[in-house]
Amino acid sequence: MVICPECESDLDVAEEEVGEGEIVSCPECGSDFEVVGIEPLELSPVGGADDDEEDAKEESEDGEY
Ligand SMILES: [Zn+2]
Repeated sequence: MVICPECESDLDVAEEEVGEGEIVSCPECGSDFEVVGIEPLELSPVGGADDDEEDAKEESEDGEY
Protein backbone atom coordinates (compact mmCIF):
# COMPACT_ATOMS: atom_id res chain seq x y z
CA MET A 1 0.00 0.00 0.00
CA VAL A 2 1.27 3.41 -0.98
CA ILE A 3 0.27 6.47 0.99
CA CYS A 4 -0.17 9.89 -0.58
CA PRO A 5 2.40 12.34 0.85
CA GLU A 6 -0.13 15.15 0.49
CA CYS A 7 -3.30 13.84 2.09
CA GLU A 8 -2.11 10.49 3.48
CA SER A 9 -4.80 8.50 1.76
CA ASP A 10 -4.28 5.18 0.00
CA LEU A 11 -3.00 5.76 -3.53
CA ASP A 12 -4.38 2.40 -4.60
CA VAL A 13 -1.19 1.23 -6.31
CA ALA A 14 0.81 -1.86 -5.45
CA GLU A 15 4.34 -1.07 -4.34
CA GLU A 16 5.74 -4.01 -6.28
CA GLU A 17 4.00 -2.95 -9.47
CA VAL A 18 5.40 0.56 -9.82
CA GLY A 19 8.78 1.34 -11.28
CA GLU A 20 11.12 4.28 -11.04
CA GLY A 21 9.98 7.22 -13.16
CA GLU A 22 6.34 6.20 -13.13
CA ILE A 23 3.70 8.76 -12.33
CA VAL A 24 1.00 7.93 -9.82
CA SER A 25 -2.02 10.08 -9.18
CA CYS A 26 -3.86 10.43 -5.92
CA PRO A 27 -7.59 9.87 -6.36
CA GLU A 28 -8.30 11.87 -3.21
CA CYS A 29 -6.46 15.18 -3.67
CA GLY A 30 -5.59 14.86 -7.38
CA SER A 31 -1.86 15.34 -6.87
CA ASP A 32 0.58 13.61 -9.17
CA PHE A 33 3.74 12.00 -7.88
CA GLU A 34 6.74 10.57 -9.66
CA VAL A 35 8.30 7.42 -8.32
CA VAL A 36 11.89 8.47 -7.68
CA GLY A 37 12.94 5.40 -5.75
CA ILE A 38 11.86 1.91 -4.89
CA GLU A 39 12.70 -0.14 -1.80
CA PRO A 40 11.80 1.91 -0.02
CA LEU A 41 9.28 3.50 -2.30
CA GLU A 42 9.88 7.22 -2.65
CA LEU A 43 7.52 9.71 -4.23
CA SER A 44 8.32 13.18 -5.48
CA PRO A 45 5.58 15.70 -6.24
CA VAL A 46 5.25 16.53 -9.91
CA GLY A 47 5.25 20.34 -9.99
CA GLY A 48 5.95 21.07 -13.64
CA ALA A 49 3.10 23.56 -14.03
CA ASP A 50 4.25 25.65 -11.08
CA ASP A 51 7.83 25.79 -12.35
CA ASP A 52 6.67 26.99 -15.75
CA GLU A 53 4.70 29.82 -14.20
CA GLU A 54 7.72 31.00 -12.24
CA ASP A 55 9.96 30.86 -15.30
CA ALA A 56 7.50 32.86 -17.39
CA LYS A 57 7.35 35.56 -14.73
CA GLU A 58 11.13 35.86 -14.57
CA GLU A 59 11.39 36.05 -18.35
CA SER A 60 8.90 38.91 -18.61
CA GLU A 61 10.80 40.86 -15.95
CA ASP A 62 14.09 40.40 -17.77
CA GLY A 63 12.53 41.38 -21.10
CA GLU A 64 11.81 44.98 -20.08
CA TYR A 65 8.15 44.37 -20.64
ZN1 LIG B 1 -3.62 12.79 -1.90
